[in-house]
Amino acid sequence: MAGIYIHIPFCQSKCYYCDFYSSVKLSHKKEFLNALLVELNLKKDFLKKQSITTVYFGGGTPSLLSAGEIQTIIDKIQSSFQVDTNAEITLEANPEDLTDEYIKNLSTTAINRVSVGIQSFNDSNLQQLNRRHDAERAIERIERLKSVGLQNLSVDLIYGLPNSSLDDWKHSLRQFLKLNIPHLSAYHLTYEKNTVFGHRLKKGIISPITESESIAQYNLLCQIMRENNYLHYEISNFCRPGNFSIHNTNYWNDTHYLGLGPAAHSYDGNIRSWNKPNLQHYLSDLNDGKLPPHEKEILTETDKFNDYILTRLRTETGINLNQIQTDFPVFFNKTKEKINRYKNSTVLCSFDGNRFRLTEEGFFVSDSIMQEFVEIED
Ligand code: SF4
Repeated sequence: MAGIYIHIPFCQSKCYYCDFYSSVKLSHKKEFLNALLVELNLKKDFLKKQSITTVYFGGGTPSLLSAGEIQTIIDKIQSSFQVDTNAEITLEANPEDLTDEYIKNLSTTAINRVSVGIQSFNDSNLQQLNRRHDAERAIERIERLKSVGLQNLSVDLIYGLPNSSLDDWKHSLRQFLKLNIPHLSAYHLTYEKNTVFGHRLKKGIISPITESESIAQYNLLCQIMRENNYLHYEISNFCRPGNFSIHNTNYWNDTHYLGLGPAAHSYDGNIRSWNKPNLQHYLSDLNDGKLPPHEKEILTETDKFNDYILTRLRTETGINLNQIQTDFPVFFNKTKEKINRYKNSTVLCSFDGNRFRLTEEGFFVSDSIMQEFVEIED
């Protein structure tokens, strides 16, 4: 079982909070598609014939590709790898790209899950983020996707925006519920260095909301989703029963994956590698039939243990002492001691004698808890 991630490195414009690698030079799109097909070919043995259960088009803005271009990539993947007939094939899409015609064409491709970057159902928040759509457009587009049978949908929302109120956030969550969508990814805003928001924060033009406001928005999110029977299965992800993102869940379960496109990461169980985030070099190397510039890291036992801790504590599954004893015996006693120190903090975590996991309150402060569980290499 393995996954494929394709990074589409283009956006129409940059959103003020985003530091994902992308270029606004759409004129390179055709050249990129040719290069991507060459990369696919060069890496067709990377997953060693494991069956592919997920394919994920992320970015950037994958919905800047036409339905035909998307299907060409899927066809190439299907002819180069053993793709399960029921594979989850996700496209990240922005509402402004989802015209009626686009949605109709998309419904004829193998895409069977769409993750829509809505971010907010409040128009002033959307302008503040430099998004190109408004709330009405987002709502219409979701309805249109459903009308052609694309029901396996997810929506991204952001909270904790500067000057945002609890009422703004409640409005977005209520609107999300009205759309009856099975999956939500909700992220607290972080101020990344090389973004407009990061610069504005540094210059004092904007100020973050207070910690108590952040906690109130997070608590509201958890409460509303719980009341509406969504499972909080990972720090930022909620789903109706059975509708979790298989692709992302595989990342947290140590599944191998191949990443294609600039800035995409790959993992084969022992080595983590990543293409450098540079479109020009990516294009020129693949044009010459060479692998694009990349870096790699051979994982030590400590790295693998830390990955286990950092990924599992993000999820409702948590860490499993029996598994640690089998897979990471060197770290078993230390981990047990750390769990013992926490096990009475029932607000932050739960422990049933084997499985240790964070509660919703624990998720909110997970960074500091995880830091205590990871091991430093000698
Ligand atoms: S949020 Fe999405 S659309 Fe906006 S800049 Fe980032 S990748 Fe592009």
